[in-house]
Amino acid sequence: MSAPVTINGKSYQWPQRPTVVVCIDGGDPAYLKQYLSEGIIPNIQRFIEQGFATVAKGSMPSFTCPNNMSIITGTPTAEHGISGNYYLDTSTWQPVVMTGPELLRGQTILAGFAEQGAKVVSITAKDKLRKQLGKGLDVSQGHVSFSSEFADACTLEENGIENVLEYVGMPKPSMYSMELSLFVLQAGLKLLRVRRPDLLFLSLTDYVQHKCAPDDDQARQFYRQLDSLFGELAEQDIVLGLIADHGMNDKCNAAGEPNVIWLQDVLDEAFGVGETIVVCPITDAFVGHHGSLGSFVRVWSKGRISDEQIIQRIQGLDGVDLAVDKPTACRLFELPADREADVVVVARHDYVIGTTAAAHNLEGLNGQRLRTHGGISETDIPFILNRPLNAHYQHVAATQVINSYQIFEFALNGILAD
Ligand SMILES: [Zn+2]
Repeated sequence: MSAPVTINGKSYQWPQRPTVVVCIDGGDPAYLKQYLSEGIIPNIQRFIEQGFATVAKGSMPSFTCPNNMSIITGTPTAEHGISGNYYLDTSTWQPVVMTGPELLRGQTILAGFAEQGAKVVSITAKDKLRKQLGKGLDVSQGHVSFSSEFADACTLEENGIENVLEYVGMPKPSMYSMELSLFVLQAGLKLLRVRRPDLLFLSLTDYVQHKCAPDDDQARQFYRQLDSLFGELAEQDIVLGLIADHGMNDKCNAAGEPNVIWLQDVLDEAFGVGETIVVCPITDAFVGHHGSLGSFVRVWSKGRISDEQIIQRIQGLDGVDLAVDKPTACRLFELPADREADVVVVARHDYVIGTTAAAHNLEGLNGQRLRTHGGISETDIPFILNRPLNAHYQHVAATQVINSYQIFEFALNGILAD
């Protein structure tokens, strides 16, 4: 057994047995609540009864990239720097995509352990996370890093594994399917059985949760299958941590129409076109299921309009939870100031904020209710371990707010020894 490893200033014990953290993308506590009451997720129920479970806090904005990076680095957004899918480069006024590994600050927990000789695995459903999750990993040393999105294109050189479809025994899943997530878990299970790596991070996609409320049969079916795979993973004598990146809420009125604030339209009307720029940091290449609409946006001023003027215009709007300047947003939400806008706007739980009505295509919703995330109302997330905590971490859990980025800390340092 090796010595503890220090990563981004925090000390982690060497894993006693393979340690697996699964990020259930969009895994709002409401899903578990519903299915626990129905008695259809017996493995998760056993972890809650025999291990440890709480509702923890995810990072703001409650989007996928920032929260996956918080979890994998063990740090808040202010430290790792990934505060959305996009930020605005104010030298060119162009949005810059934030998925490049060079933009991630600090080391991942996987890379920190790999450097000391542990074998590590990172598998993500969507490829947009892969390069940051795999930052600093030399896959020629027996580590694995790939996405199920491109499972058919893996090479030893790039991913540390090849012929993944044959290896896992599943066809390539569609981008919009629950199989994209199930593939991640099946691949992790196979690697665990065959190679028994020390540390695994398995990150799913929120396709089902965007589409389906907890009482929808498709979501029920998805969680039954997740639960069964969690059970199979736990049988491999591991420490299993279950976490989510963010929750999910219905953003519609009683008639089923999305409650949208078209903020660029509002600001253009107040201050003139071209004076302010609204950026929706949820935007990515796959928007069919949410139309690039979330409950958190950023506003930059070109210089003529003050933060105060922008905030005053926004504050009275129905559906707005919060409109604050950069220093306040950075303090409240632990955000990196050098990538933050002049004004941050957060919507209420049942509202989203877009740019202009013309810029967002809602046809991808196919008439379904808009369910999405990004706000404070989606920062509650489940935090579950399949084994009981030691005395010190029982005390920590009883006396402090637990953040999602502590899941590796709890899984490595907090489990009661045999
Ligand atoms: Zn997500």
